[in-house]
Amino acid sequence: MLNVADLSVRYGAIQALERVSLEVPDQTVVAVLGSNGAGKSTLLRAVSGTHKLHKGRIEHGTITHDGQRLDKLNPAATVARGVVQVPEGRRIFGRLTVEENLRAGGMGVKNRRQPPARDRVFELFPRLQERRGQLAALLSGGEQQMLAIGRALMAQPTLLLLDEPSLGLAPQVVEQIGEIILEINRQGTSVLLVEQNASMALRVADLAYVLDVGEVSLHGTAEELAATDKVQRLYLGHSADEHGGSGGAPAAKAPRRSVARLSRWAG
Ligand code: ATP
Repeated sequence: MLNVADLSVRYGAIQALERVSLEVPDQTVVAVLGSNGAGKSTLLRAVSGTHKLHKGRIEHGTITHDGQRLDKLNPAATVARGVVQVPEGRRIFGRLTVEENLRAGGMGVKNRRQPPARDRVFELFPRLQERRGQLAALLSGGEQQMLAIGRALMAQPTLLLLDEPSLGLAPQVVEQIGEIILEINRQGTSVLLVEQNASMALRVADLAYVLDVGEVSLHGTAEELAATDKVQRLYLGHSADEHGGSGGAPAAKAPRRSVARLSRWAG
C-alpha cells in the first residue's frame, strides 16, 4: 500500500503540490486526473524520488510504501523497493535495441532474475518480442510506450507509476494501453496512473483523484468520479444534462476484470 500524507512540494517559488493525501491500496489501479500544471507529474516524481532531479523540494508530508518511508530514499533505492516509474514522454534509449532497453530496465535490481521478467514482458507485448533486435528509435509511438512500460516491468515492480501513457497516441492504441494496464494489475502489480485522458483512466481505475492547481479537489471510486458533474464537464467533455445528471456517467467502468486476455497488440 502506498500512502501519501499531507504532501507539499515546491520548485523554488512555485508551489506545485499543497497538502496532498492519497492512497494506493494493494492490487489496485488508482488514477490521478488534472489539467496541465495541476501537479500530476510532481506527485509521481515525489513518490519515485526523482523530484530533486527537477529541482523540486518536499517541504511537508510523508510518503510511505508498505509502512516504510519513501520520501527519504533516492531514486535507485525506491526502484529497489519495487516502486518504478515510467516517466512522461517515454524516454527510451533510441540507439539501443528493444532487447538492450529491456536489459537496462533490469540492471541494478538485486536478487531478481531477468529472464522470467523478460518473458513476462514479451508475453504482454508480443510485438516487442518480434522486434527485439530493432533499434528503439525506429518503433512507432505506441510501440515506444509499450517498451517504456516493458522496461519498467523488468525491475519487477510491486507498484508501477505511469505518467500520461496515452500522450500523443491514437485512440485505438490508447485503448490497448488501457488493456495492458488492466492485465499488469491482474498479474498483481498496483498502478498509480496519471492521465489527462480521463475516459481511459476512469475505465481502468478502481479509485481516482482529481488534482486542481496542486490540491486534491475530488476523490472516490472511479465510478463515483465519472458520475460527477465536474468530471463529466471538465474531463469527459459532456454536460450533466446530456447524460441525465449524475446517474449517466459515460465513463463508468466497464467490468474491468472481464478483460481476460489481451488481443495481440497490433502497434
Ligand atoms: P502536465 O500535464 O502539463 O505535465 P502536471 O499536472 O503534470 O502537468 P506538473 O508538471 O507537476 O503538472 O507541474 C506542476 C507545477 O509545477 C506547474 O506550475 C509547473 O509549471 C511547475 N513545474 C513543474 N516542473 C517544474 C520545474 N522543474 N521547475 C519549476 N517549475 C516546475
